[in-house]
Amino acid sequence: MKFIEHNENEICQEMENLGLPKFRGKQIFEAMINGLKLDEVSVFSSDFKQKIEEFYPKTKIFKKFISKDGTKKYLIQFEDGAIVECVLMSYKYGNTLCLSTQVGCRMGCKFCASTLNGLERNLTTGEMLSEVYLINRDNGGSRKNRFITNLVLMGSGEPLDNFDNVCKFLKMISSSESLNISERNISLSTCGLVDKIKELADKNFGISLTISLHATTDEARKSIMPIANRCSIAQILDACDYYFAKTGRRFYIEYTLVKGVNDSAIDAQRLANLLKGKVCHVNLIMLNPVAERKLCSTDRKEAEKFCKKLNALGISATIRRSMGQDIAGACGQLRNKFVRKV
Ligand code: SAH
Repeated sequence: MKFIEHNENEICQEMENLGLPKFRGKQIFEAMINGLKLDEVSVFSSDFKQKIEEFYPKTKIFKKFISKDGTKKYLIQFEDGAIVECVLMSYKYGNTLCLSTQVGCRMGCKFCASTLNGLERNLTTGEMLSEVYLINRDNGGSRKNRFITNLVLMGSGEPLDNFDNVCKFLKMISSSESLNISERNISLSTCGLVDKIKELADKNFGISLTISLHATTDEARKSIMPIANRCSIAQILDACDYYFAKTGRRFYIEYTLVKGVNDSAIDAQRLANLLKGKVCHVNLIMLNPVAERKLCSTDRKEAEKFCKKLNALGISATIRRSMGQDIAGACGQLRNKFVRKV
């Protein structure tokens, strides 16, 4: 049994099964959510620690980078040595953790560094929980006094390609037993796995849905996102309508501006046509060029024009503020830099 994948009652029950005092389950549960390593739990004897060692989480913070603007990037290492990255951003309204759902990714988007070496493996529910618990603690947070208030599933990996583990994670992290992070403060970002978006809607979690659209025609989308060969833009937007009908949650569109690929005035017009009448917001992202790919970022001025055009056409849109640029590039670049060195 992996303790971290279970609730307090189940761990207490497991204590009984192991012939250990039941009340220790409560302490184990508390220690894990507080992000403590086993050897830091002072109420346990070394004999007891030995007995539970194999069931207790061993994920750790491998490295931390702090940006001039306060953004922190973490490399998190799991028991098998695999590494993912997480980013912690502080805003006026709270602290948002961007976490990873897979080691690597198999979606193959042309602008993204996470997918350069394909998918290594899915993260387990417990590993995703550990990302949150460890970083919460590293910033002075605990189970009772939470530091992290918001989550975005936007790190490496495609969350809907690891559907069951992600759903279980969402259920646990938002429960009052755990960090009680409100579903309203959680956002899941996907490149558009249509069937899974509908399945997620049926689960009625009430989390926000973010679609990485990045193009306004299926042809252009296919040139940068292989998923476009399986799901059309029309199917994705239908799935978003379904999500909205089921959950009442407005959705977000992410649109990374790539020079000469998706940033023309006609694109802005087409994007507005696609989104007309929908309850959504467009986040325009400045491409963070990945050395291994040949794509270039749109100039800032052109991005502003694109944004203004969307606004003029009645679409709610803003350019996303880039944070922590001095400590690493986009999605997966920090990890890649590091993994290549070792
Ligand atoms: N697989 C999910 C979540 C991970 S990617 C998804 O596709 O949404 C998170 C966001 O970062 C996506 O919108 C993705 O398109 C964007 N992104 C990835 N690489 C980027 C880069 N080099 N520059 C700017 N945005 C990037």
